[in-house]
Amino acid sequence: MMQQEGKATFNIGHSFYRPSSQLSRDLGVLAAAVYKQQTGELRVLDAMTGCGVRILRYALEAGADYLWANDGNPEGHYTLRQNLAPVLESDRYQITHEPATRVFLQCALDRDYYDLIDIDAFGSPADLITPSLQALKYGGLLYLTSTDGRIVSGHFPQESLRLYGAYARSHPSVQEQALRILIGAIAQQTAAQHCSLQPVFSLYSGQTYRVMVRVFPKAFNLAKFNRFLGYCSQCGHYETLDWRYLSRAHCDNHNPPQPMSVSGPLWVGALHDRAFLQSMANLAQTWHWQKVAALLEVMQAEANLPPYYFPLGEIGRRGKLDIPPRDRLIQALINAGYVATNTHLDPQAIKTNASLKICVDIARSLTESGL
Ligand SMILES: [Zn+2]
Repeated sequence: MMQQEGKATFNIGHSFYRPSSQLSRDLGVLAAAVYKQQTGELRVLDAMTGCGVRILRYALEAGADYLWANDGNPEGHYTLRQNLAPVLESDRYQITHEPATRVFLQCALDRDYYDLIDIDAFGSPADLITPSLQALKYGGLLYLTSTDGRIVSGHFPQESLRLYGAYARSHPSVQEQALRILIGAIAQQTAAQHCSLQPVFSLYSGQTYRVMVRVFPKAFNLAKFNRFLGYCSQCGHYETLDWRYLSRAHCDNHNPPQPMSVSGPLWVGALHDRAFLQSMANLAQTWHWQKVAALLEVMQAEANLPPYYFPLGEIGRRGKLDIPPRDRLIQALINAGYVATNTHLDPQAIKTNASLKICVDIARSLTESGL
């Protein structure tokens, strides 16, 4: 049966296709289109292409001018070739069936670098980070997927260390921790190659984590961006910690101060690039993608806030309050001089530069004033 997504019409055949992850493909296409507008070029390598829907959309909607569709499984070749037929008229493409690592290393040997590398892996992409960087053009976009939520949400801290070089702990804002551990791992690998990165956007949707980063040929101070996150299970307080102060990772809301659980090192820089998101949002408006434009607005608001969020249930539980209405609490925090917003990471949570204690106090005053 033929499927339709964006401008792509395609057959799934025996490959894996989830209609619910369209949002991640929409964002990828928008970012690719903005990149093409800015640089005039867009060579795309889709390392795990499946039935080819992503690369077809990069071609039809973002104007990709060279396509490399690779999938480790050759059984999908006929379906893939049929799906890509509308964009295979020129010789500006190749279809291969190799392990992704082999493709990246071949690119490096041939000095054949790509503007956008999309890796929609199942499980962890950790082993593909370094090889994919070898195939990426300077200034190019690397778009990674992780579906191993159980590892980065703190259930298997030693597995998290093995894959990402960081300990994950369990606490209320684990979806953000998952994204930041993944970015932190890419940042470390990037820094090891005397390069730097900037996250373009970070998406948590449908139990899947997707991170797009831009890599630049300029060394950066990794210690400024890959830091630790402390969480006090007694009162819910969060703190970003420098490695120098790990021995003092105690929550001062208690007498004596109580030890915090520490995760990381993880990325504590911006979660998204606001300027790039604005360009994506402008394009989304032009294309009448209202839902995506609304998401991009939320992402811009949350981009530069501290590396954690507060679920409303947590605020209610800690303050022994009824759960406050989200938008009223956000407005009250803004009125009190803080930055506060809803977050795409959890519809029932807020991101703010106010501490949990302040959120609880303000939520209580809302409850008491009958608002
Ligand atoms: Zn505490």
